[in-house]
Amino acid sequence: MRKLSAHYIITGTGAVLIKGIIILSDDGTIIEIIDTKGELDEMSNVEFFSGVLIPGFVNAHCHIELSHLRNVFPEKTGLPDFLKNVVEHRNIEENRVIEAAQKADFELYKNGVVAVGDISNTNTTFKLKSESKIAYHTFIETLGFAPQRAERAFVWAKYCFDEARSLGLKVSVVPHAPYSISKELFDKISEFAINQHSILSMHSQESSAEDDLYLSGDGEIVRHLTENLAIDLSFFNPTGETAIGSVINWLPKENKLLLIHNIRTTQEDIDLIAKTRSLDKTWFVFCPDSNLYIEDRLPDIELFRENKLQICVGTDSLSSNHKLSMLDEMKTIQANFPSIPLDEIVIWATQNGANALEMSDWSGTIEVGKRPGINLITGMDLQNLLLLPQSKIKRLI
Ligand SMILES: [Zn+2]
Repeated sequence: MRKLSAHYIITGTGAVLIKGIIILSDDGTIIEIIDTKGELDEMSNVEFFSGVLIPGFVNAHCHIELSHLRNVFPEKTGLPDFLKNVVEHRNIEENRVIEAAQKADFELYKNGVVAVGDISNTNTTFKLKSESKIAYHTFIETLGFAPQRAERAFVWAKYCFDEARSLGLKVSVVPHAPYSISKELFDKISEFAINQHSILSMHSQESSAEDDLYLSGDGEIVRHLTENLAIDLSFFNPTGETAIGSVINWLPKENKLLLIHNIRTTQEDIDLIAKTRSLDKTWFVFCPDSNLYIEDRLPDIELFRENKLQICVGTDSLSSNHKLSMLDEMKTIQANFPSIPLDEIVIWATQNGANALEMSDWSGTIEVGKRPGINLITGMDLQNLLLLPQSKIKRLI
């Protein structure tokens, strides 16, 4: 049994306790939470820490399969050039991919992550994920903009799905992005998702070039598809709408959906998404450090708050981030949007991810009966509850 206390405890349920105490069993299950109202008397065996205790992080978007691409790609080149680099560099020996992914898994764990929504295009990392101390939801991500690729892409995804399941992983088959999936492939994914009641995820509105493709059939993504991937686009007719507007109806309304990045999202887009599907089943995942790495631009996070949308945080992969640190993502959010209170950002980085990944029965909040992991943030401005550049995370449980 351990009794933990600190200057503040952000429970993730709305409460911020001053010098509260969390009592945990040996397996990390929370037995009791004591609100001392700041009056922490001498109590036997209480470990007091200088800083703030928060629940374990839920990283809503990562690709540990791309960890070997750390520090390989130049920064701020924009999405089309980034995609080109991924195509050119992703195929290397499997053991190097596994070795880098293993290190990434350890880095995530050390940085206080208890659960991850992780994208896989292959089965390479399934075994290590099934043996990890972190709980993974694996999104098998399909790719194929040419309609004739749909069948082959889906057969491979289904093969990976079955293998992941056989290893005990939580898993779903998902589309990569509007610019990489044909209507034919969307239909296959949707039918399977409805049958499996799957959680869906899709990269969305990361670059204005996605809209150019659908609005006019021109632009940098078109060049990527035709020049780098040698796809004959003669089958494709621009819809005259934005990318999200063109495909949102192809995703089943009854399934949960995580939309990743949302850098270019406007009020019009939010209204359109709200008209198409329930916002209670829709999560907007921000990966700010990856956005700065690739596009050098951040989403209008205040707009999502004003609309009371469900926000999550992810690190994205090491191909577009120097670290897998949820705390660093939170620092970037706070530095660029200083009016957002820390306890709200903590909810995005913990509870909302747990809800989206259907892991809230044990993770996401500091509540009796849960086993959410406990992180300590040190080096903060405790007077104003603000993160500082030197703030650090330490996993206590
Ligand atoms: Zn991603």
